[in-house]
Amino acid sequence: AHLDRVAEVDKQINAFLHVDVEGTLAQARRVDERLAAGEALGPLAGVPIAHKDVFATRDMPTTAGSKILENWRPPYDATVTRRLREAGLVILGKTNLDEFAMGSSTENSAYGPTHNPWDLTRIPGGSSGGSSAAVSAYEAPLSTGTDTGGSIRQPAAVTGIVGMKPTYGGSSRYGLIAFASSLDTPGPFARNVLDAALLHEAFSGHDPLDSTSIDQAVPPVVDAARQADVAGMRIGVVKEFGGEGYQPGVLARFHEAVELLESLGAKVVEVSCAAFEYALPAYYLIAPSECSSNLARFDAMRYGLRVGDDGTRSAEEVMALTRAAGFGPEVKRRIMLGTYALSSGYYDAYYGQAQKVRTLIMRDFEAAFHQVDVLVSPTTPTTAFPIGERADDPMAMYLADLCTIPSNLAGNAAISVPCGLADEDGLPVGLQIMAPVLGDDRCYRVGAAVEK
Ligand code: GLN
Repeated sequence: AHLDRVAEVDKQINAFLHVDVEGTLAQARRVDERLAAGEALGPLAGVPIAHKDVFATRDMPTTAGSKILENWRPPYDATVTRRLREAGLVILGKTNLDEFAMGSSTENSAYGPTHNPWDLTRIPGGSSGGSSAAVSAYEAPLSTGTDTGGSIRQPAAVTGIVGMKPTYGGSSRYGLIAFASSLDTPGPFARNVLDAALLHEAFSGHDPLDSTSIDQAVPPVVDAARQADVAGMRIGVVKEFGGEGYQPGVLARFHEAVELLESLGAKVVEVSCAAFEYALPAYYLIAPSECSSNLARFDAMRYGLRVGDDGTRSAEEVMALTRAAGFGPEVKRRIMLGTYALSSGYYDAYYGQAQKVRTLIMRDFEAAFHQVDVLVSPTTPTTAFPIGERADDPMAMYLADLCTIPSNLAGNAAISVPCGLADEDGLPVGLQIMAPVLGDDRCYRVGAAVEK
């Protein structure tokens, strides 16, 4: 049924970069065989899933939305991919994304933009826009994403679904094509909070193949989603998020969600996190710095595209021609920004300063979580914007992640759950719920209460 749905609507949506009908049916048959043989598979056995095309899959191409990896087939599976298979999920295909997960609209994909199912002229968020659109358009009940600065929560918010960024280190980066390694976090998309929790549980947990993986039990996210009760919880509204620059319809739905939580027995207070104001500029130094280092591996020798290798050119020339042809404009901008910020003479002024801001943001969270159990804010300042509107204005594009970035810099857990439609445009609004490191269950508990 989901393959039929993909065939019916994906020409308009462009959520998928790769769908393998035969391969999908073969995976489904294998799950049937495992169940028939008495294997105890989890609750998601046989459920189809759309997989962000930034996770290595040995039986499908893995492009990261870039020309430089066109037709590349990894020789191995990412840990997330492997765990999906072990749990018996059926991978329908790979979803579109901003090139190397750099962007907030999926317009930076080398394979064309994805369209928001609510309004095809609008963006589905990014960078995991193919994954959010696939779930929102009922092409798949579940999908995977990665969140470096908001790339799960922001697309979830603007397509009206649930998207969770687990605690950094709570889900494995092994086999995830790296953007900014100190921030990258795999997480789930679903149409309701409990489904997201089930998927979260299926692929998270310690992985010895990822050196930053946390060696502790996965927080009890499924129980928390079932609990769905906020009586007695202390909820902090982040004072810095929600004034000028926020769409009135977004703020109206956000304030209603806060009132709802209060009516369900939560105690709501305002909390100030003064350093959050500097999260965006700090992120746009740290993330490009790490990207400039991570993307050095695309050297025309090891993977994918190779341009100009006709026997007359040096390795350096082939490398330069390949990178010039293979990377898109946003990726090049980030590599230049990062290289500049890391260069000697500028390092202390830019990268070093940004790292200090990062520490201040962690301290704001720490102080806040002494007072409250979770923090809440709108997930994004506006609803989905029209395709093309911010394409030539990187600063306007970067603002989409204003509220989501602090949790990446601090590494704590955060979720976006739907909280209604904005009056001006009838488009979905997301409520962001932020919890401490390894407090992922609190996000699900509060999220499920709002959903009920
Ligand atoms: N939009 C942000 C960026 O462009 C975040 C991306 C992400 O989380 N992968 O960097």
